[in-house]
Amino acid sequence: MNNKIFVTQCFMPPYEEYINEIKNLWDTAIVTNMGIYHQKLEKQLKEYLNVPNLSLITNGHLALELIIQAMELSGEVITTPFTFASTTHAIVRNNLKPVFCDIKYDDYTMDPYKIESLITDKTSAILPVHVFGQMCNIEEINNIARKYNLKVIYDAAHTFGVKYKKRSLASYGDASILSFHATKVFNTIEGGAIIFKDKYLENKIYNLKNFGIRSKEIVESVGLNAKMDEFRAIMGLCNLKYVESTIQKRRKIALRYYEKLHNIKGIKLLSHQKDVISNFAYFPVVFEKEKLGIDRDNICTFLEKENIFPRKYFYPLVTEFECYKKEFSTFKTPVAKYVSDGILTLPIYPDLQLEVVDYICERIQYIINK
Ligand SMILES: *Cc1c(COP(=O)(O)O)cnc(C)c1O
Repeated sequence: MNNKIFVTQCFMPPYEEYINEIKNLWDTAIVTNMGIYHQKLEKQLKEYLNVPNLSLITNGHLALELIIQAMELSGEVITTPFTFASTTHAIVRNNLKPVFCDIKYDDYTMDPYKIESLITDKTSAILPVHVFGQMCNIEEINNIARKYNLKVIYDAAHTFGVKYKKRSLASYGDASILSFHATKVFNTIEGGAIIFKDKYLENKIYNLKNFGIRSKEIVESVGLNAKMDEFRAIMGLCNLKYVESTIQKRRKIALRYYEKLHNIKGIKLLSHQKDVISNFAYFPVVFEKEKLGIDRDNICTFLEKENIFPRKYFYPLVTEFECYKKEFSTFKTPVAKYVSDGILTLPIYPDLQLEVVDYICERIQYIINK
């Protein structure tokens, strides 16, 4: 391959559509602070996701920090080490203690049967991740949360457009956060949202994302600035029109990978979850080195030489980060450690050609057989 094939590529709407929309901003000169495009995008997202309560935020990470603050969590939060830095940072930056629960080998989400033993009298919430858009065991997590009176916040950054039993996956739990970062299935360049169950949180979130300001002369909480501006809201409005067709394209690519790779012994793919409609955000593959005789790092190095750039995602585990490794260990989450050491996410984005997918699979097959 002469061109470099990266793991993902930002979806861009047609240039003219975006330019036409932003022209209006020069007429009004209102470019931020919950303007008309901000309102319009919130409304369209509520309709598209079919959720009653949604607040646009400047990015997914601040959405998570802010909802943790809004829910006034305390003490300890049970979460997963197999995630992006953001999930744990949001807990720690709220002065809470993350407690790491292991994941399941079948879908890499939190193992609900390992949660209860981690609950203490300090636990206030469970924060699982619908990792790669795979649904957590929401029924079981919900049962545990009810039994111990805990809140459940899902990091649903990978989950835009995923449905479970015909409902948006992000509508389960007390709250979920979405990310609209450039690399995600739906993007506003940088952006995110909070989806929440209780209407009473609406004003609180609105105020918090605007410095805690309730009205001109009343500042009621120690808020932050997490507002989305009009340029990015317009990017979202333009992109939302294409999200269905891009998911369909992703679907074709994922099926092609599946077709080519599922028979190879030692390569573990995700399998279809019952009643779930996926968004095909990622195509993660775990290389089981004891069966293959070659490990993930060697496969990755070989592919990079061939101009194919998959990602070791998520590697290292959060508990192995410089900033956390002194405090936490990985031996308590052996499944997460195994997955993290064997995983590669393969290139997937709407415009990736099927011939390129075939080529990537052929190269993987080659290095494994060698
Ligand atoms: C992308 C991502 C985030 C953070 O979202 P940003 O919009 O980039 O701030 C949080 N959690 C997970 C799992 C993510 O993949």
